[in-house]
Amino acid sequence: EHADTPLVVKGLRKAYSDGFVAVQEISFTVQRGQVVGLLGPNGAGKTTTLRVLMGLTQPTAGEIFVFGHRLVPGAPILSRVGALVEGPGFLPHLSGYENLKAYWQATGRPWADARFEEALEIAGLGDSVHRKTRKYSHGMRQRLAIAQAMLGLPELLVLDEPTDGLDPPQIAEMRRVLQRYATDGRAVLVSSHLLAEVEQTCTHAVVVNKGRIVASGPVDDIVGDSPSVQLDVSDV
Ligand code: ATP
Repeated sequence: EHADTPLVVKGLRKAYSDGFVAVQEISFTVQRGQVVGLLGPNGAGKTTTLRVLMGLTQPTAGEIFVFGHRLVPGAPILSRVGALVEGPGFLPHLSGYENLKAYWQATGRPWADARFEEALEIAGLGDSVHRKTRKYSHGMRQRLAIAQAMLGLPELLVLDEPTDGLDPPQIAEMRRVLQRYATDGRAVLVSSHLLAEVEQTCTHAVVVNKGRIVASGPVDDIVGDSPSVQLDVSDV
């Protein structure tokens, strides 16, 4: 089932131990070639949804299929998925490149130069990848973290608010990075609380509010036809 579909989420529900239901009845699909934006105000349940997808927290109910494989809570994430780890730390005395190589070696997977060069190129790191990371700006760190998620060119890339703390030129660059990534049969799922950002970056959007989906579909349909959706998410 769905063997060629990067991600299928069906009826996802997550109640935390204090009983708070952070997400419920969340169902959506990510196809190859799509950049899907998970859009909603703070507290809408975006991070919870992505953490469940990455196997970092267990769902209360629902099913997740990654390329047809049912995600089993606690099992290792498929190598076909790359994720932006929350607040990744880099070793300050090593270059960005050395950090990425060390990270990859820790995963125990073989290093393939060509794929890494391509990942770095898509991430737009340029020559600064050879500088020590202690000299990096916030934007460079963020880009290195995204390059890390792209290593090995996973077919599905999952990013939680990658533009957080970036300035407008860096946000524009991030947009190009994600759009470049979602070619060659790859796909991206990215969260954001900014409608304009999703509108400009994504092909599709899943709009969540208070843990539920309030709209989903091609970005043009959502932005054009649903003024109420714009109101829901812009008054954040
Ligand atoms: P943000 O952009 O602020 O991260 P979000 O859309 O990603 O927002 P979540 O972080 O998923 O939202 O949080 C959704 C709701 O679940 C919030 O009300 C939050 O307080 C609650 N929540 C998150 N983690 C826990 C937890 N461990 N225990 C209880 N409630 C939690």
